[in-house]
Amino acid sequence: MSQTRNRGSDVLRALPQTHLLLEMPEAQALREEFSRRSLTRAVRARLGELRQEWRHKDDLLFSPGRFFAEIRARLERESRPHMCRVINATGIVIHTNLGRAPLPSQALTAVVEAAEGYSNLEFDLEDGRRGSRYGAVPELLRELTGAEAALVVNNNAAAVLLALSALAQGGEVVVSRGELVEIGGSFRIPEVIAQGGARLVEVGTTNRTRTKDYEAALGPETRAFLKVHQSNYRITGFTAAPPLADLVTLAHGHGLPVIEDLGSGTLIDLPALGLPHEPTVREIIKAGVDLVTFSGDKLLGGPQAGLIVGRKALIERLKAHPLLRALRIDKLNLAALEATLRLYRDADRPQDRLPVLSMLSQDIARLESRAHSLAEQLSAQGWDARVEVGQAEAGGGALPGAAIATRLVTIGHADVTGLARRLRLCRPAVVARLHGGRLVLDMRSVSDEEANLIAQAFRQVSA
Ligand SMILES: *Cc1c(COP(=O)(O)O)cnc(C)c1O
Repeated sequence: MSQTRNRGSDVLRALPQTHLLLEMPEAQALREEFSRRSLTRAVRARLGELRQEWRHKDDLLFSPGRFFAEIRARLERESRPHMCRVINATGIVIHTNLGRAPLPSQALTAVVEAAEGYSNLEFDLEDGRRGSRYGAVPELLRELTGAEAALVVNNNAAAVLLALSALAQGGEVVVSRGELVEIGGSFRIPEVIAQGGARLVEVGTTNRTRTKDYEAALGPETRAFLKVHQSNYRITGFTAAPPLADLVTLAHGHGLPVIEDLGSGTLIDLPALGLPHEPTVREIIKAGVDLVTFSGDKLLGGPQAGLIVGRKALIERLKAHPLLRALRIDKLNLAALEATLRLYRDADRPQDRLPVLSMLSQDIARLESRAHSLAEQLSAQGWDARVEVGQAEAGGGALPGAAIATRLVTIGHADVTGLARRLRLCRPAVVARLHGGRLVLDMRSVSDEEANLIAQAFRQVSA
């Protein structure tokens, strides 16, 4: 006991005091490069660590050179932002873990403009009074979808919750058993219905549901039929779902709305881009669905947002609901969303301006030449690199089950897991996949510029 105390005072004597360290020339340089505040914090923290470590050390020799080298490494580590640029070489274009949709440059400009100073977010510049938060967005959405009215909230999960809370609270919502999906952990249709204060009435079976199943579920408490896009999974084989038109006719015959959670949703004809067909929001509205919700940052290729389009009377009920305030979209996303929707309305080829659509629709020949160019650079660095044929995915629950042809650069290495980790720790970080014992870089979700950055990252990790 007394020995430990003596040891402790030896350590204290051997370590310089904070204020003396901060006066050393090495400290001066670090203070200029970082800040007085960060330097003092780092020095105190390191001294605290040394006090513990040195209790078990024999030679108590303090080296300012080593101390300040450690302080520099610590300050560099601490000053690096946690959120950083990632090169997505997974081939999953709408990757929820990697931030979903990269924004078109027009949206970035709009975000900077809205963020830099004040804006007319809720101010009518014409008559100098309070204005609507949503500005041009509802009109753009009406034009792009043919709907009577539109509203936007924070994300699609919020859109579904708001729609159910405003239209079905205290009543029953009828959903097909094949559509009771879970999307990424915390969004499960039965739970969202319960949270909206409604009771779920399940109809049909997992694989087959018919119009008469919905009819049998109708009762005095029924408030709506809810259709949900199956998103991230597919039921194939012996399946049946009622034609949308029949469901709409049945609901309207009983004065009830049909709500559809479209998940990803698209505003343009995907087969024209060489992609599988998904009904467009306009088609769903035309089929008579009363309220459609979809995401801003999935196939749409814009910022995080929940878009709601449909009948004016229903949108008015959503607008009047107290939850709207809690679920509202922030100004930066709103600015980005307006710019994104303008591209859909005004650009000759929106697919060239929107990164998500341009990645998904890129010509295989371009991917092939990108893959060869990267493989050559990597081979020249001494890596075992090969170009292979592969299949990419849209991701984000969009186009489930659709395999999109792609080209891969695969790397053989004695420790592929370690290599993948070292690439992730580069800046920008490179996120790849592992398959068949090789590291896989998918060219569908990277640009030519990013392929060059991948080559640089490999140079760093081999160094
Ligand atoms: C993705 C998805 C959601 C959730 O959308 P967020 O914009 O992520 O909140 C809800 N429903 C379906 C069917 C989806 O695919």
